[in-house]
Amino acid sequence: MLNGCQGQKEKNDLPAASKSSFLMDTIVSMKVYGEKPDKVIEEAFQRMREIENEMSVTLKSSYIYKINSNPGEPVKVDSDTFRVIRKAITYAEITDGNFDPSIRPLVSLWGIGTENARVPARSEIEEAKRLVNYKLIKLDEEEKTVVLQKPGMGIDLGAIAKGYAADEVRRIFKKHRVEHAFVNLGGNVLVVGGKPDGSPWVVGIQDPRRERGSVMASFKVKDKAIVTSGNYERYFEKDGVVYHHIIDPKTGSPARTNLLSATIICDDSFDADALSTSVFVMGVDRGLELVESLNGVEVMFINKDLEIILSEGLKNKIKVLNQDFKLVGNDNDEQI
Ligand code: AMP
Ligand code: MG
Repeated sequence: MLNGCQGQKEKNDLPAASKSSFLMDTIVSMKVYGEKPDKVIEEAFQRMREIENEMSVTLKSSYIYKINSNPGEPVKVDSDTFRVIRKAITYAEITDGNFDPSIRPLVSLWGIGTENARVPARSEIEEAKRLVNYKLIKLDEEEKTVVLQKPGMGIDLGAIAKGYAADEVRRIFKKHRVEHAFVNLGGNVLVVGGKPDGSPWVVGIQDPRRERGSVMASFKVKDKAIVTSGNYERYFEKDGVVYHHIIDPKTGSPARTNLLSATIICDDSFDADALSTSVFVMGVDRGLELVESLNGVEVMFINKDLEIILSEGLKNKIKVLNQDFKLVGNDNDEQI
């Protein structure tokens, strides 16, 4: 989870409004500068509620619930849901299945973040793993239908839907000619423009060891999406082991990559959300390789030794605020 530190100076002539609310299983907050900011915020929250109602895995009225309850049958969905599933499959392809929207059977088996969280037996994991395979999700572009080809399969868009929602919020802002805004959808941060005084937004990176809101580093951005996946977001501990909510589809267990968090910075939150989950599963070496192969995408990893590993484009752009953390492999120490 990240936090925005707003500047002291604000354009006096620009109305501003802010709101925080619980939505999409997380705390959503936003600040908007422009004409009728309250109205813009209301429309943005309305749009997020709509997306939640379409894509929630637990709400019985959602399209995802309908797909998951009708394996083998083509289920007609709306254009939002179709777009998000299609994008999720694209990321499954790009990451060779490290990101997999058909992860639902493993997510519900582990139950992390619910009162049923437990360490399953090896045999249960193996059984659920056999149901996780994005290649068995069939899409019909013309009909806008989705079919799960094996009984017991299930789609979970938890790793990407918030990213889509943040981009949709930005679309609403643009429609209302909002030029300065800050949105935090439970760790999915999106900034529009810079601050009203023209300076960049300062985005803080959550200290993975501390309570929410503790920031260990920051960087300055304009018009960017910044999304963090971390092992501290949802987890339980048993016998000294932390079991977190990001599952490696290849092992069927929470990803073990020596990482505490992975933060992606790029233009669209849709991509940043899918990629932050992906690189968390892939680990530093393969994650960096993937990010460096993509245009306009940067990453910041924090590992269990409290080392910070950055992609090329982020080097010298980050300010470390807590000296427990050490920048690794940086060419020089100059900081902004
Ligand atoms: P995020 O916080 O964006 O990294 O997303 C984590 C959520 O995505 C989890 O709570 C699951 O619902 C889902 N998820 C877990 N592992 C994966 C995976 N390997 N691929 C896609 N989604 C996943
Ligand atoms: Mg994600």
